[in-house]
Amino acid sequence: MSNMRLDKFLSEMGFGTRTEVKQFIKKKFVSVNGEIARKPEMKINPQEDQVLFQDEVVAYKKFEYIMLNKPSGVVSATEDKRDKTVIDLVEDAVRKDLFPVGRLDKDTEGLLLLTNDGILAHQLLSPKKHVNKIYFAKVQGEVTEEDVQLFAKGFQVEDEFFAMPSKLTVLEKNMVSQVELTIVEGKFHQVKRMFAAIGKEVLYLKRIQMGKLCLDDTLALGEYRELTQEELDLLK
Ligand code: URA
Repeated sequence: MSNMRLDKFLSEMGFGTRTEVKQFIKKKFVSVNGEIARKPEMKINPQEDQVLFQDEVVAYKKFEYIMLNKPSGVVSATEDKRDKTVIDLVEDAVRKDLFPVGRLDKDTEGLLLLTNDGILAHQLLSPKKHVNKIYFAKVQGEVTEEDVQLFAKGFQVEDEFFAMPSKLTVLEKNMVSQVELTIVEGKFHQVKRMFAAIGKEVLYLKRIQMGKLCLDDTLALGEYRELTQEELDLLK
């Protein structure tokens, strides 16, 4: 771990903007290895030096990984003028630079990973990597065996894109069918557009898996938790 400016370190760990942090240092709130810090530009080694803020140890976290069970009604963005964002839901995050890994529509629920690890996000989102995404959906009308075959072969969605082969499993066939769909792409409104192309409307959509990471079904809508090390290993 290379050295880092003290004000940058504190700011990244969520103690405020660089300006605010400079004020805290001036007010002698911060000590490094037992000595009051006086200079915001002081270099520290976050893994070796002990930084205290008002006598509390400041633990260093380079990357943060949070699993959110996204509720309907919030947008998958870091900021939005009108709507609440998924980042607004996570009130006690350490890192202030979290972003959602990909997007779920405002009315889609389920698994969303929030992190500040851009490399992992790229690995999960890159179209070349074909990472599986599994959705549970309620669809208007009866989803048929022909639909399953069509999805398995891949098909043209209007004149917009070719949907690559996907795995459609019908869980319940009725006026409203319940299905599970595994896709390896992440186009805008992908699942809804695939069903719209066969004349069926998606009434409810929830992501339950991304790569090997499964939604923790003990998380209620809007709840979140840090990934375990095992879960993180599954993604890397
Ligand atoms: N496909 C959709 O149509 N919407 C989502 O939110 C995710 C996948």
